Amino acid sequence: MVILRAQKRSIVLVPFPYQGHTTPMLQLGKILHSRGFSIIVAHTKFNSLNTLNHPEFVFFPLEDNVSAGLDTSIGNISAVITAINENCKVSLQDSLAQMMKDRENHGHVCCIIYDAVMHFSRSVANHLNISSMVLGTFSAFYMQTHHTILRLGAENSIPLQESKLLEPVPELHALRFKDLLIPVNTEIPQTVLELLKDISNIGSSIGIIWNTTEDLDHKSLSELRQLYKVPIFPIGPFHKIVPASSTSFLKEDTSCIEWLDKQAPNSVLYISLGSLACIEEKELEETAWGLAKSGQPFLWVVRPCSVNGSNWIEQLPNGFQDCIGERGQIVKWAPQKEVLGHPAVGGFLTHCGWNSTLESLCEAVPMICRPCFSDQMANARYITHVWKVGLELEEVNDREVIGKTVKRLMIENEGKQVRQRVLDMKQKLDTSMKKSGASYQSLSDLTDFINSFPL
Ligand code: UDP
Repeated sequence: MVILRAQKRSIVLVPFPYQGHTTPMLQLGKILHSRGFSIIVAHTKFNSLNTLNHPEFVFFPLEDNVSAGLDTSIGNISAVITAINENCKVSLQDSLAQMMKDRENHGHVCCIIYDAVMHFSRSVANHLNISSMVLGTFSAFYMQTHHTILRLGAENSIPLQESKLLEPVPELHALRFKDLLIPVNTEIPQTVLELLKDISNIGSSIGIIWNTTEDLDHKSLSELRQLYKVPIFPIGPFHKIVPASSTSFLKEDTSCIEWLDKQAPNSVLYISLGSLACIEEKELEETAWGLAKSGQPFLWVVRPCSVNGSNWIEQLPNGFQDCIGERGQIVKWAPQKEVLGHPAVGGFLTHCGWNSTLESLCEAVPMICRPCFSDQMANARYITHVWKVGLELEEVNDREVIGKTVKRLMIENEGKQVRQRVLDMKQKLDTSMKKSGASYQSLSDLTDFINSFPL
């Protein structure tokens, strides 16, 4: 039976324009499209994505005015978030109002799904009388840290006493105060607290979709269900549900796959710190010598401008060049999911971004954790202390420690146990995505939920 477009349910997606957020939103679009919904993506002009990779979606731009004079460096991210939320409201509202009048072309716009960071979408949805749902692109346990920070702020416990840093946070299971990244010497600016409040106020939507699973996040999901009192759908890991087109902002260098093809199984350490983290020259140098000392083959992603003070790898130490070629490769951006799925890759030195974490777990690749900021500290703690599928890198500016940690993971007995645990976790995740598994069931529930919205 042919369903006319005017009778189809359309879902409007509002991604936050950074790699680690846009990727899961587009993956969700692909999943919902495969379930029969039309997908419309409202994207900012700032950090605009490559729409040509997704011919099955309709795209429309949001006027964000972000590039006009605002410092958009990562250190100023909370100002960028605030600007996007203030500036895009009118644009989203006007464009959607037009689309809703044009059912012939756009179907029945039944719901907005917005990244938790793009909280302005909630008021647009309310204004237009459309349902709104939130996408959590980070873990449920990280969302809980927002509530703890807000509680500490309300109790005037910030700045935090230095002596508390290594203490466990009572309500956060495995996390220490240190993992919350609360300042010890300064106040948290009021604007940042307001932002955390807006981002964590997701219970006012009618449901929450999460790129996580019960296996990874069960305790936090149950507690958030109590708190928010709206349905929560943990349907992840998204990237394993339907094959998605490339969502990369940077061009992937696929030549590294041919190099991986020549390496022994489980022998290569893959190194990447994601799309935003930057390091100092000293860390580049110590990592290089640590890799050299470990004796393991490596594939290392160094993003352009991600080493402070240089364009790319000009500051690699003399002598390290001998390790590049047969022994190791350096690329600007890799096809990461393919790399992690390659049989030659046996370990991942990662910044512990949530997508990277999920991608590594799904391919049973054990990790070495080198978190930098944001949710990465909490993710690292879960990787090393809860799921126990990775090792902590205890010192980033010490070649001895780096070399030894790589060996511990890649060749020593300790690494074998970590590898077994990550394999067990991968199997659990596989099961959860199969028929009658928790994520599979949650996706069916989500589909039924959206189909229950009136036409
Ligand atoms: N990624 C990639 N190639 C690279 C490095 C990263 O495709 O060379 C992708 C990776 O697969 C992941 C995303 O970029 O999907 C990074 O997201 P994550 O949440 O791990 O970290 P963020 O970039 O947000 O810090």
